[in-house]
Amino acid sequence: MKSLLSLVLLVWTLTLSAQQTFIYCGNLVDVKKGEVVSKKTIIVENDRIVEVKDGFTDLPEYAVLIDLRNATVLPGLFDMHVHLESETSKDNYIKPFTLNEADVAYEAQVHAKTTLLAGFTSVRDLGGTGVNTSLRDAIDKGLVMGPRIYSAGKSIATTGGHADPTNGYKADLMGTPGPAEGVINGTAEAREAVRQRYKNGSDVIKITATGGVLSVAKSGQNPQFFEDEIRAIVETANDYGMLTAAHAHGDEGMQRAVKAGIRTIEHGTLMSDETMELMIKHDAYLVPTITAGKSVAELAEIEGYYPALVVPKAKAIGPKIQNTFAKAYKKGVNILFGTDAGVFKHGNNAKEFGYMVEVGMPPMEAIQSATVVPAQLLKVEDVYGSIEAGKIADIIAVEKNPIQDISTLTQVIFVMKGGEVVKP
Ligand SMILES: [Zn+2]
Repeated sequence: MKSLLSLVLLVWTLTLSAQQTFIYCGNLVDVKKGEVVSKKTIIVENDRIVEVKDGFTDLPEYAVLIDLRNATVLPGLFDMHVHLESETSKDNYIKPFTLNEADVAYEAQVHAKTTLLAGFTSVRDLGGTGVNTSLRDAIDKGLVMGPRIYSAGKSIATTGGHADPTNGYKADLMGTPGPAEGVINGTAEAREAVRQRYKNGSDVIKITATGGVLSVAKSGQNPQFFEDEIRAIVETANDYGMLTAAHAHGDEGMQRAVKAGIRTIEHGTLMSDETMELMIKHDAYLVPTITAGKSVAELAEIEGYYPALVVPKAKAIGPKIQNTFAKAYKKGVNILFGTDAGVFKHGNNAKEFGYMVEVGMPPMEAIQSATVVPAQLLKVEDVYGSIEAGKIADIIAVEKNPIQDISTLTQVIFVMKGGEVVKP
C-alpha cells in the first residue's frame, strides 16, 4: 500500500513537472528594449514563459533542455499580410472553377505548416473564401499545424473592384455578388458586409481601396470606394473591435482610406508625400509587401504566366514598392511587417526583412515591426510579441545574429509555438 502511494506520488510529481523546458540562448533579441543580450535561459512551463534568467542556469532533474547556445533566439514572427488559401501558379485563374472548398482547405493547411516552420507563429490572413477562418479554428484546436491566424475571411470590394470575386468571368457566370460575397455599393451595404464578416467569425476587415495587380481588370490603381463607404466600414468594424486594412496602390484611394480611419495601408505603392503626412497624422501603418512586388514583376516576364491584362500592371507597379517604403520609413510613417505571401511562395516571408534593411531600415526596427508592433496593433501584446515572463511561448531561433546579418532570418532552425517544439 505504501509503495503504491509513493508510486502515485511519483507519477503525480512527474506529470506536474514534466512540462518544464529550459532553453539556453547564446543570444536573445529583446524586442522591447531593442537590444540583443547574450547568455540567457528561458524557462517554459506548459504553453507559457515563466522566467527569463541571466546565464545558463542548472536545470532540475525532470526538466528538458533545449540547447541554443550557438544560436540567436527571437520571439515568433508575425506576417501581417498573407493569403494562406492559395499560392502563385500559372493555373491560379482557373482554380475557382476546378477546386472545391475542401480542395482549397487541403492546400491551405500545407501553406500554413510551411509558414509556421519558417518562423512565423502568427499571421493576418487578408483575404480568401472563408476557408482561412476555418483553418484558424482547426489550428487552434490542434487538428492541423500552422500559425495563429487573424482572419479577414473574404475581403470587401465594390462592383468590378480588386476583390470582386467574379472579375473577368463570362457574363452568365458573373452574377451580381453582394455584401455576403464581399461586394458593396453604398454605406448600407458597407455596414452589412462588416456585420456579415463578424457573424462569419472574421477577426479583421480588409477592403480593396484601389485597383490591384492580379485582378482581371484594367486599372491597378484607380480609387474604388467613396470616402463615405470606407468610413461606414471603419465605424462598423470599430464597433466590433476589428482592425481595418486597405489594399491600395493609387494615391487618391489611399488618401480616402487614411482619412476615413483605416489603420493599415497594404502596399502603398504610389503614396505621395501628402499621404505620408496624413498617415503620420492619423497614426496609420504601412504594410509594405516588397517581396510580392518584386515577385509579380519577375513572374510577369514569363510568357503566359498571368492573363494579358495583368502583365503591364505587374511590371509597372511591382518594382515601385521598395522605393516608396524607403521614403515613407524615412519620413516617419509607422511600418508593420507584411509580405502578401501566396502572391509568391509561402515560407519565403522572411526575405522581406532583407528588402527593408537594404533601403535603410535598421534590422532591429524591422524585427520589431514583425513582433511587438503587430502584437500591440492586434491588442495581444500581453501574451504575444516578445519573450518575457507570463507570455505565451512562441519562440524561434536562427544561426547568426540578425542585427549583423539579417538574411539569417530566412533560415530558421528552431520553432516553438505555445510551448510545443514544432521544428526541428
Ligand atoms: Zn494581398
